[in-house]
Amino acid sequence: MFAGDADIERAVAELGRALPERLRPLAQIAYNYRWAWSAEGDATFRSIDADCWARTGANPRRLLTEVGRRQLEQADGDAALVARVERLASELHDDRRRPWREGAIGPQHPVAFCCAEFGVHGSLPIYSGGLGILAGDILKEASDLGLPMVGVGLMYRTGYFHQRIDVTGFQHEYWLDADPERLPCVKVTGADGRPLTVTVPVDDEDVVVQVWRVDVGRVPLYLLDSDRPENSPVGRWITSRLYESNRAIRLAQYAVLGVGGVRALRAMGIRPGLYHLNEGHPALGVFELLAQERAARPAGDEAAAWQRVREQVVFTTHTPVAAGNETYARDEILAMLGRIADLAGDRERFLSIGRIDPDQRDQPSGMTALALRASRHANGVSRRHGQVARGMWQPLFQGRAAEDVPIDHVTNGVHVPTWLQGPMRTLLDRHLGPGWLARADDAGTWAPVNDIPAGELWAARCAARRRLVGMITSRATGDRLRRGEPLDYASAGGGGFDEGRLTIGFARRLATYKRLHLVALRPERAIALVGGERPVQIVFAGKAHPADNDAKEVVRRLFALKGAPGVAGRAAFLEDYDMALAGQLVAGCDVWVNLPRPPLEASGTSGMKSVLGGGLQLSVLDGWWAEAYDGSNGWAIDGSVDADHPAQDWRDADAMFELIERQVVPMFHERDADGIPQRWVAMLRRSLVTHGPRFCATRMLREYADRIYRAG
Ligand SMILES: *Cc1c(COP(=O)(O)O)cnc(C)c1O
Repeated sequence: MFAGDADIERAVAELGRALPERLRPLAQIAYNYRWAWSAEGDATFRSIDADCWARTGANPRRLLTEVGRRQLEQADGDAALVARVERLASELHDDRRRPWREGAIGPQHPVAFCCAEFGVHGSLPIYSGGLGILAGDILKEASDLGLPMVGVGLMYRTGYFHQRIDVTGFQHEYWLDADPERLPCVKVTGADGRPLTVTVPVDDEDVVVQVWRVDVGRVPLYLLDSDRPENSPVGRWITSRLYESNRAIRLAQYAVLGVGGVRALRAMGIRPGLYHLNEGHPALGVFELLAQERAARPAGDEAAAWQRVREQVVFTTHTPVAAGNETYARDEILAMLGRIADLAGDRERFLSIGRIDPDQRDQPSGMTALALRASRHANGVSRRHGQVARGMWQPLFQGRAAEDVPIDHVTNGVHVPTWLQGPMRTLLDRHLGPGWLARADDAGTWAPVNDIPAGELWAARCAARRRLVGMITSRATGDRLRRGEPLDYASAGGGGFDEGRLTIGFARRLATYKRLHLVALRPERAIALVGGERPVQIVFAGKAHPADNDAKEVVRRLFALKGAPGVAGRAAFLEDYDMALAGQLVAGCDVWVNLPRPPLEASGTSGMKSVLGGGLQLSVLDGWWAEAYDGSNGWAIDGSVDADHPAQDWRDADAMFELIERQVVPMFHERDADGIPQRWVAMLRRSLVTHGPRFCATRMLREYADRIYRAG
C-alpha cells in the first residue's frame, strides 16, 4: 500500500532464505519494529544468541545474518522458541489486517509526520533525546490506533554521538557508522528498479537524495539520505550527523528534510492529508508545498495558494530554550538556501516569513517563526509550556494579548507498550484485563491497580530493582575499568550496589537548564545520603552536547565527589545514555528526580516512563509535572520563575535534599510486619492510577487526531 512494500518483501525473502524452515517468519519480524513493543519480542531474539544480540546492539537483521549456523539450528529445534516466533508472527499479521481509521485522514491521505529525529529503538541511531523519542512513540501509537501516518526524517550515516567519560570526569565524543545496509530497513526503488531519488537545491548544487524505509508497525518511516555518488563531498556529508555543529550544514539538513521530504513523498505517490511539523526543522517544506499550489492555480492568486498551504500544515513547538529556536543571518541563509528562497517567489519575502517582525530587515530568520506562520494550528507540549510559548511568541502576533496568541497545547504522553517492561508489565497485564493497552487512556482501565495486593506490587518493584542493580553492577564496573580507574574503585561498582536499597535515578540530556549541578551544590549532603545510616544509591546518566562546555563541567564536578567514603559503591554515572539504558533505568529506579529550571522544561517524558515502571516522581513543578502532581502522587519542588538563578539553585537544592531526607527515605523504610512499606505502595498506586491514563501516548495521539488533525 505504501512505496517500498515490494522492496521490504524482497529483503524479507532474502533474509528468510538463510534461515532454517521454522525460523523463517523471523525475517518478516526482523524487518518491522513492531516486535520492539511486543511483550516477547526482545526475549525471542535474545534467546537465539544473547551475546550476538548484545554485540549487534539488538539489531535483528544483524543478529539473523551474523549469528552462527549452530545457534540457528539449535533455535530451530527449540519448540518453545519456535512457538514464540509463531506468536510474534501472527501478532504482526493480525495487526496488519486491522482496519485503518477512515475520514479526512485516511490510507489515501495519511498524516506526514516530519521530524529531524526519530527514537524508534536503540538499534536505529537516528535520535538524540526527548524530541526524537516522542516522535517514535507517536509513530508506534498511530500504528496501534490505526491512524494512517507516514514518518519523514533523515538517515544519519553516523547518527548521534557516543559518550565516554575519562578518569577526570571529562566527556569525550565519538561517532560510529550506522551502516544502513545492515539496519532493518530498505532502499526504496522506483519502477525501473533503481533507487528512487529526488533533488534538493542547496547552495549551487542539486543534491541527490535517496530514501530508506523502516517499518514501525503499520507506519512506514521514510528517511532521506544524501550519501549518493552523484553528490559533492559536502552534499554527501549533509545527512551525516544529527544536530551537526556546522551551521551551514544544519541549514542544508533543513532543506533536505523539508523540501526533500515533500518531494520524496510526491515521487513515491503519497499524497498526505496533512503535514505535521514536529519542531521547526522540517518547516522549509512549506515552500515546496507553496510551489505546488502555485502551479495548480492561475498566476497571481498568491493569497489563495498560501491559504491552501496553511490548511495542510500543523506545527508542534517543543522548546522554550533559545538554542532550540535557532535563527540565521540573511547571508548565512541565502548562501545555502538562496534557490529555495526563489520557491517563495522573492528572497525578501522568504526571509521576512522567518523573522519575528517581518519588516525588520536586519533581524535574523528562523524555522520556528516560519512554522508558526505557515501552519493552521500550533501547539506546545504541556499546559504550562503552552502558556510559556504564547508569551514567548507574542511578538510574532503583533496587537494580540499573550493569552490570545494562537498556540495551545497537547501534553506529551509515552507509548506504554514500549516503556512498560519487565515485572511491572507482567503484573499489570495480569490485573488490568485483556486488551487493556488499547484502552490505556481510559481512567477505568487503571482502576484495578487499587485492588492489586500491596505484596504483589511491592514484589514487582523489588524484582525490577534487582534487575537494575544487576545491570548497574556490570556496566559501572566496565565503565570504570575502561576509564582506567584503580581496581578497588572499579570493583566497588560491582560489589557496592544492593538490590534492597532505595535507588534514585537522574538521567537526561545534560543541558544546563536540567540542573544536574544541584546535586553537587551541597556535596556534604549528597555524600551523607549515600553514606548515612539508611543509605540510598544514585544512578546518573546523560550526554552533554559536544559544544556545551558548561554541561561537561557539571559532570566533572560530580566526578570530583567519587573519592568520598561510600560513594564508589553507591553512586554511579553510567556512560552513553540512550534508549536502551533509559528503558532499564526507568523500569528499575524507585524515585526519578527531575530538576529543570522553570519554566524551561517544555514537558519532559522520562518521568512518565518511570511512572510505568512503578517509580515515584520527585520533580520541580514544571513541564508535565506541573499538571500531574496532586499532593498524593509524588513529591514536588516549587516551580516558580526566579530571575536570581544562583538563589533559586540553592533553594531548590535544599528543597530536594529536604524531601529525600525527611520524606522519601523514612517512607521507604517504614515497613509493616510483612516487610512492606504500605505508605510507599499507596503512593505508587496513586501514581499509576492518576498518571497512567493521562500521560500515555494513546491519550496524546487521540487528542492530536480529534482536535488538531481533525482526522474524522
Ligand atoms: C525519554 C528520553 C528522553 C527525554 O526525557 P526527559 O524527561 O525529557 O529528559 C531523553 N533521552 C532518552 C534516551 C529517553 O529515553
